[in-house]
Amino acid sequence: MITLKTFFEEARAGRLTGIRCLRCGELAVPPKEFCSSCQERAWELVPLSGAGTVTSFRVIPALGSTPEAPYAVVVVRLDEGPSVPGRTVDLPLESLAAGLPVRFRPLVAGDQTVIGFGPSA
Ligand SMILES: [Zn+2]
Repeated sequence: MITLKTFFEEARAGRLTGIRCLRCGELAVPPKEFCSSCQERAWELVPLSGAGTVTSFRVIPALGSTPEAPYAVVVVRLDEGPSVPGRTVDLPLESLAAGLPVRFRPLVAGDQTVIGFGPSA
């Protein structure tokens, strides 16, 4: 069984992974229990390139009790197809735009791992 734990352990090591349905080939990121296309629950782990483009973003302003702010939450369409939400890492907020190429970069703090995206090059 491929779990969210596997997904985040891989992410922590710098590897973005998805799962592919063994029946219909649907690719899902992050892992889930049942395939949304065929309801099967047999998956294989597949490595992803981590490259994609921003499709939408929302800037979290430097207010209140969020010490990391300002940063942005982005939705990235991966080159392999699925869209994944993540946090910006080392991306100037003024450079954010739909279509901006980015690359997966894990944000590790203590035992927490968050999906992040940084500059593509
Ligand atoms: Zn399927």
